[in-house]
Amino acid sequence: MFKVLNYINGELIEPKAGSFLENYNPAEGKPYSLVPDSDAEDVQHAVDAASLAFPAWSAMPVEKRSAILQKIADLIDRDLDQLALAESIDQGKPVKLAKVVDIPRASANMRFFATGAIHFSSEAHITGQEAINYTTRTPVGVVGCISPWNLPLYLFTWKIAPALAAGCTVVAKPSELTPMTAFLFSKLCMEAGLPNGVLNIVHGLGPKAGQAIIEHPNIVAISFTGGTITGKKIAATAAPMFKKLSLELGGKNPNIIFADCDFEQALHTSIQSSFSNQGEICLCGSRIFVERSMYNRFVEEFVLRTKKLTVGDPNDEQTKVGALVSEAHMKKVLGYIELAKQEGGTILTGGKQVKLNGRCADGYFVEPTVITDLDAFCRTNQEEIFGPVVTIMPFDTEDEVIGYANSTGYGLSATLWTENLKCAHRVAAQLKSGIIWVNCWLFRDLRTPFGGMKQSGVGREGGWEALRFFTEAKNVCIKI
Ligand code: NDP
Repeated sequence: MFKVLNYINGELIEPKAGSFLENYNPAEGKPYSLVPDSDAEDVQHAVDAASLAFPAWSAMPVEKRSAILQKIADLIDRDLDQLALAESIDQGKPVKLAKVVDIPRASANMRFFATGAIHFSSEAHITGQEAINYTTRTPVGVVGCISPWNLPLYLFTWKIAPALAAGCTVVAKPSELTPMTAFLFSKLCMEAGLPNGVLNIVHGLGPKAGQAIIEHPNIVAISFTGGTITGKKIAATAAPMFKKLSLELGGKNPNIIFADCDFEQALHTSIQSSFSNQGEICLCGSRIFVERSMYNRFVEEFVLRTKKLTVGDPNDEQTKVGALVSEAHMKKVLGYIELAKQEGGTILTGGKQVKLNGRCADGYFVEPTVITDLDAFCRTNQEEIFGPVVTIMPFDTEDEVIGYANSTGYGLSATLWTENLKCAHRVAAQLKSGIIWVNCWLFRDLRTPFGGMKQSGVGREGGWEALRFFTEAKNVCIKI
């Protein structure tokens, strides 16, 4: 079976202990490749390589660093079809989605931070007539980047691009469920002439390879995207070691629909924000709140359109909803649907596993599911399900819906639908979410800070925030 390899010190190599894990194609429910089951020894090798590479990489003129990273972006664009297919095979998403979202956004990440670093400036201040202060920012050192399985290459590059552009060297671990695009990416780095040891990719399990990265004393900053429970574990290890920490965690995002909205736009986009990528996007709006005067009309249309979504082979152009990432995850999602029933929910459509024919007969497919009649505070409406499952609830007043929206431990994103500008500003100001979309969803401007509030994260990424995170500021104060 095909073997994914670690990328350490510029070489593609097997893990030192020689052990591998099976990598499943979730649409077929079968293993199709092997992924290194790396351990602390492999991480040590990667940290040694990154430490050795750091002086030259951090001292390299930023224009030269930038050119190498931009070359990698060009190679991602060149290999778009191959990368999109690999992402779909690993993760279960429709190939079409990977082609228009994941892979183009991965090259955009590389290009944005590569060019951003060139324009990075530091500050100087004259303090009265007595002193001049100037601030320098230098790359922080060897950093650890850990990414999840839902948008594999997109989130992998979101972590490593600012780190590399800032002049850090990196030890990265993608999710072991979706290693293939990071493996292909390591080949692109070699082709682009990235110096040995600047980026090291160690594949393997979170509690083993991931934990070894977090614990390593020479790794001085951790940038992590993943679940809130994993984030807590990482913080518990890294905080007492005084590592810099950026955590992008889970969400349970509200999608608030006022009766004065553009109905068609709100409906169309809400279908996307509920079920894109099988609902496996941290920014999906999994709790829909609709103003009561429009509630029945919205629910009826929403259910009709949900029923029309094609669940199918990710390779098929018509497929809108592909396979969930793993059998374990599918069982978790189905478990939440059972919980919703126990909590008094009504399943208006969906609710079951889908059995397809042909090559996808054993795949992990779940019907897009719409649930009503739950209260805002039950577990189904408070915990992250991360699948093609949404709940819909009516509301009467602004204050009421703001209370519902803010009632979970999460605070990642929110969506608002209204034509009333004052209402949009008022409600947006009161929502405890890191990003609020008004009359749209999933627009991203990479210059804006990105990250969650409450248990959805610590620190902000994106724009200058990300480049700053990977640097250390030093102020020099000179008496004049
Ligand atoms: P996990 O938290 O399970 O895993 C994320 C990464 O951390 C994986 O590479 C995982 O490895 C690794 N990991 C697990 N345990 C440890 C550990 N002890 N030490 C170091 N690394 C560890 O998340 P999922 O992969 O399941 O991703 C889904 C979650 O990610 C959802 O909660 C989603 O909301 C969140 N997410 C947040 C985003 C944001 O921007 N805020 C964006 C996208 C997703 P392994 O796979 O081997 O377990």
